[in-house]
Amino acid sequence: MDIQFLGTGAGQPSKARNVSSLALKLLDEINEVWLFDCGEGTQNRILETTIRPRKVSKIFITHLHGDHIFGLPGFLSSRAFQANEEQTDLDIYGPQGIKSFVLTSLRVSGSRLPYRIYFHEFDQDSLGKILETDKFTVYAEELDHTIFCVGYRVMQKDLEGTLDAEKLKAAGVPFGPLFGKIKNGQDVVLDDGTEIKAADYISAPRPGKIITILGDTRKTNASVRLAVNADVLIHESTYGKGDEKIARNHGHSTNMQAAQVAAEASAKRLLLNHISARFLSKDISQLKKDAASIFENVHVVKDLEEVEI
Ligand SMILES: [Zn+2]
Repeated sequence: MDIQFLGTGAGQPSKARNVSSLALKLLDEINEVWLFDCGEGTQNRILETTIRPRKVSKIFITHLHGDHIFGLPGFLSSRAFQANEEQTDLDIYGPQGIKSFVLTSLRVSGSRLPYRIYFHEFDQDSLGKILETDKFTVYAEELDHTIFCVGYRVMQKDLEGTLDAEKLKAAGVPFGPLFGKIKNGQDVVLDDGTEIKAADYISAPRPGKIITILGDTRKTNASVRLAVNADVLIHESTYGKGDEKIARNHGHSTNMQAAQVAAEASAKRLLLNHISARFLSKDISQLKKDAASIFENVHVVKDLEEVEI
């Protein structure tokens, strides 16, 4: 499981940072990529990665500000132009209004898609668990921005223990149907009377990963709730230390507030994005250094950077 950042800037694109988008690559887990936000130019950034647009099966939108959604019509249209590739349907999750934005853009531009889009819109009253599959559950909760905006908590279900085939062979179990039974947790008795207890040959289940991806927000308890024990918390850092007042006025956070959220939530790792173009490279090191005084395992991400989870 990896996260690749497609746009890590705030508000408008700069030469170094495009506007918001990131890809949660679940190729090993479910052979899918989930996109979170889709600012203008997201499809151009994708061209610089190994991500294949038809693998993008779900798009989650945090809020309807342009720097988070203006890339959708272009991405969705280009996704249709993949000759010789199977056309796969797509789900879009987001605040009420996202459906009308997408459909209007497609209609007035005369764009027709050869695949289906399923919209899952929500508002303040319909948040909580927004998706459950056999491998993942996704929760959304309202944050505190200038318009309705959510954060997402993606929880991978616990992973089944694996069968220790070598140990089974050593115990004299012949390779074949018995392996399958033991893998399913069934105890078996061999021809020679040896009892094989399945539990002795299956490793303990491993806890699934928790990934928290927040939209734009002031510091709020909802962020902490979404990030509890997260393996990784992705938090905006539009402002730096000392800018708390202006951050609050504009509905955003500072690096220090993001670090406080990570610490309060006992997250394992904090990645800062939504970085203002005002910050030069020396300021970026300072952003990280200051945040690390509150939460040590912090990093300011760059466009196209890939992080293994
Ligand atoms: Zn915003």
